[in-house]
Amino acid sequence: MEILVKDLTQNRLALVLPALEQLVAQGWKVQLESRAESKGCLPTTLEDELQNQTLAHPKVQVVFWDFTSPLPSFSRPTVLFPLKPPQKAKQQRPDLPANCLWVPFHSQKSWGHQIGDVASLVDFVRYLTHDKPLRGKKVLITGGPTVEDIDPVRFITNRSSGKMGLALARAAFIAGAEVTLVLGPVALQVPEYLNRVSVRSAQQMAQAVFQHFAESDIYIGAAAVADFKPRTLHVNKIKKEQGKQSWSLELERTTDILAELHQRRTHQMLVGFSVETENEIEHSRKKLQKKGLDCIIINNPKHPGAAFGQETNKVTILDKFGKVHTWPLMNKLELSLKIMKFLSTLQGAK
Ligand code: C5P
Repeated sequence: MEILVKDLTQNRLALVLPALEQLVAQGWKVQLESRAESKGCLPTTLEDELQNQTLAHPKVQVVFWDFTSPLPSFSRPTVLFPLKPPQKAKQQRPDLPANCLWVPFHSQKSWGHQIGDVASLVDFVRYLTHDKPLRGKKVLITGGPTVEDIDPVRFITNRSSGKMGLALARAAFIAGAEVTLVLGPVALQVPEYLNRVSVRSAQQMAQAVFQHFAESDIYIGAAAVADFKPRTLHVNKIKKEQGKQSWSLELERTTDILAELHQRRTHQMLVGFSVETENEIEHSRKKLQKKGLDCIIINNPKHPGAAFGQETNKVTILDKFGKVHTWPLMNKLELSLKIMKFLSTLQGAK
């Protein structure tokens, strides 16, 4: 893809560099329009990629703007990063056309020049160039593991990395939805543009989901929710008793979030995930029926490239009409975009 980057800031190229590096790393062709003296400050690695590149048909433009220069023309889809000026005066967001995505500054910081979520630039560009099968829909997604505490230092959890939930949330945004991501403890960089709700235990996840469910149109349960939690939470660390060779921990069931949503649903589409290592279609069919799902996305962690923590996944989807859709191994974001398209079609199907 060809992208035009306009730096309309006063010598603030340093703020823009991470974005340029990201675009180049994606293999996109980038033309930089900037003041000559700014261009002189480019690192040599970027200089070779960007200098003297005149693109014939840039599909998208990315503009960095500091309120002092005139706004650019919006003849092509635009990602507009305003830079927060250091002056105290509150700057107004101008009226912008529909093909412009305005990325606000980092909200919590109030000092110096600030810029919005540059790290998510690739998603913003994709947002502007992708179809919008979920335009106007509110999508609620869970992802990651839950952690069930035993005492202050020990807990029960599982191997979910949260990558699938995050990929689904990014894809839902790119496909035009308003997204809320309820995420268990994960070691992932989560884009700032997502409405993230961080939780730890299955109970907290259930509460967060129930709070947001009524206003959602689609619910996707991609979290690996613990099925059991310790019956008692010990306030102090449990000591090992001298001479005792075994110890048992009593567990109790957690709330099955999806099954509960089946009871509460009004108009929402319900999508579940299922991890099975044998008879996956049969087991998943039972889950789909029991939890009243519109479809269930089955992954078999024994399949090469589909295990926990991978960048790729291979799924089979079973829908409420009994149809089985088997898809090839794909990158999790591309797979998630295909899932969003599939869900929009399923919603219209009778
Ligand atoms: O654990 P199980 O295989 O039944 O998970 C199937 C689906 O149910 C998944 O989408 C999972 O997120 C959801 N689930 C849930 N609450 C639980 C257990 C599973 O919502 N306590």
